[in-house]
Amino acid sequence: MYDFYIYNTLARRKEKLRPLAPPRVGMYVCGPTVYDFAHIGNFRTFLFSDLLRRSLLLCGYEVNEVMNLTDVDDKTIDRAEAEGEPLRSYTDKYIESFFADIDSLRIQRAEHYPRATDHIAEIIEFIRKLEDKGLAYTSADSVYYRIDGFKDYGKLSRLDRDGIRDGARIDSDSYEKEHVRDFVLWKGGRQEKISWPSPWGPGRPGWHIECSAMSMKYLGESFDIHCGGIDLAFPHHENEIAQSEGATGKPFVRYWIHAEHLLVESRKMSKSLGNQYTLRDMLDKGCRRSTLRYVLLSTHYRSKLNFTFDALHAAASAVERLRDFQRRLEGYTPPPGATGAPRRDLVAAFRSQLADDLAISPALGELFEYVREVNRLMDGTSLSGAARTKALDDLRAVDSVLDVLRPDEGDSPDEELAGWVEAKIEQRAAARKSRDFAAADRIRDELVGRGVVLEDTPGGTRWKLQ
Ligand code: AMP
Ligand code: ZN
Repeated sequence: MYDFYIYNTLARRKEKLRPLAPPRVGMYVCGPTVYDFAHIGNFRTFLFSDLLRRSLLLCGYEVNEVMNLTDVDDKTIDRAEAEGEPLRSYTDKYIESFFADIDSLRIQRAEHYPRATDHIAEIIEFIRKLEDKGLAYTSADSVYYRIDGFKDYGKLSRLDRDGIRDGARIDSDSYEKEHVRDFVLWKGGRQEKISWPSPWGPGRPGWHIECSAMSMKYLGESFDIHCGGIDLAFPHHENEIAQSEGATGKPFVRYWIHAEHLLVESRKMSKSLGNQYTLRDMLDKGCRRSTLRYVLLSTHYRSKLNFTFDALHAAASAVERLRDFQRRLEGYTPPPGATGAPRRDLVAAFRSQLADDLAISPALGELFEYVREVNRLMDGTSLSGAARTKALDDLRAVDSVLDVLRPDEGDSPDEELAGWVEAKIEQRAAARKSRDFAAADRIRDELVGRGVVLEDTPGGTRWKLQ
């Protein structure tokens, strides 16, 4: 296990990660509300948690990740009703598309994806515990959290406590910091269209309680990491702390980690501006999945990500440069006696940047410096066989985090061609080595037949399409 530092919103500083039960790290990510297709802003946040997960793995930790699926709230209920569909089948569709999207962006699957509506019993139990502690009260068929009863309320978002003692209540799941209210735990009353029986009558859970109940069920009363977009710090995460620590009297989460938002061409994404792109929208524009993955990963998570089409082009060529480099290494035959090796230790440098609060830009800087250095060694045919093998291994280790080297779905015919060409080049080199020039020429003709021309350079044989 390598030391790992991360910015903790609770402490307002970078801290060394000290998991409760190393090397295992318990990590909870606030997942999607499944009423529509997720947009690239959502994916920025989910790719940040993917980067965190994969960086922890690269640093030798084990990750137990839970991501909830919010399948009951005002939006899901209203949309399902507007479509005339039962809530469950309506949200099923969007859960399915969410999984398809994260798979295609190569976001590693979490260990658990609990759905709120599958945990109604746990949620009711949790609210009863809060009642027992005097932290929940009933009013007009609904149950509310009494924030005045929890002395630490506001510690995550550093609220001025004087401004929050007004005892006013709020039924909606989200609200402004300026109007802090007792928030709803259980929404009851006949106005609810979707309901479950409960000790307080039929109703449904509030949004905040779902994350407290499900994170504690899968990760325990105290766990290591909780993350999400910056907009969730208040009120959602503040309320989760109040619920969880109020119920158990124990510290809930050790490290709160928040990702900044994504902007499109410097503007907030919104339906009315027509810039709220889903993954499908981007694919329809001809964007490759690996390009999107790269562009969403390559800005530091605590900076706003300004998504532009220029940045997409730059990302596409960065991915191409890495794939070219891998192909060139694979096709490189070290001459006998070559002893050259890069001075840089790619994996150590890349890992230590990521272990410093996910410093992705310097990590990528190290990678491209390394590519330049090894390319120079191949240009001069001085890269040794052992160094070539290590370079391929190291590139794979780095790609266990980036995951952009595998061909994209739409790429497969090209990739197939590339594989075939590389194999033919190898056969031709072997034929020439054994001085079977007729065979070597036949292979060259075969390649020309598929539109491939060869160029023999001191660095080995390169190829391109005519
Ligand atoms: P939602 O489906 O609205 O519950 O959001 C799922 C996740 O996406 C949450 O962690 C949000 O904070 C995050 N999110 C929403 N909008 C954006 C945005 N524009 N940029 C980055 N993350 C966002
Ligand atoms: Zn949550």
